Amino acid sequence: MTERLFLAVALIDEIRHGLAAFLSDSTTGLPGRPVPPDNWHLTLRFLGPTDALQRDRVLEFLDEHLVLEPFTLGFTGFGAFPKPSRATVLWLGVGRGSDEVAVVAAVCEQAAISAGFQPEDRPFHSHLTLSRIRPPTNVAGLVEQVGPFPLRMQVDRVTLYRSHLGRDGAAYEIVDEVLL
Ligand code: ATP
Ligand code: MG
Repeated sequence: MTERLFLAVALIDEIRHGLAAFLSDSTTGLPGRPVPPDNWHLTLRFLGPTDALQRDRVLEFLDEHLVLEPFTLGFTGFGAFPKPSRATVLWLGVGRGSDEVAVVAAVCEQAAISAGFQPEDRPFHSHLTLSRIRPPTNVAGLVEQVGPFPLRMQVDRVTLYRSHLGRDGAAYEIVDEVLL
């Protein structure tokens, strides 16, 4: 029995509401398939199919090795993968706290490896996915036009999510939290 799990920084409601308002003020709508606000998060480590032993090992590892203090998270404006002129993912970037997010992600990576997952081969780039775009589209104008999202939040935990993939997109459910 496996579950589809991933580790992420969850957004507090104030940021969720603030970002929804910011997006409607600064755009006429996002291109592609926007991620619903309830699903917004910063992925730290996607685990994929995970059994109960692996899940417990990941949580134990994080409990033991996440020694960072809570920190302040701030944001930039928009960016895109793989590049704004041919975007498939439109995201909001991380400003203040990006070094800390990278440290937390590195511990999550070690936790995953200790539970037997294959190492992630792509470099970590913290981002909040706002929309997925098919076919690839030029969003350079939008990326240029939208300024930084000004709100900040305290990050004081890592959240383990279960993802249910459905016809209407993914639904996420909190499985557990590890406090910083
Ligand atoms: P859907 O796949 O239906 O578009 P989703 O991508 O939101 O929905 P999941 O595929 O379960 O849902 O992914 C959960 C989170 O993990 C998302 O932030 C997603 O971008 C990220 N993710 C998924 N697969 C990978 C992967 N192979 N490597 C890195 N991150 C991933
Ligand atoms: Mg996916």
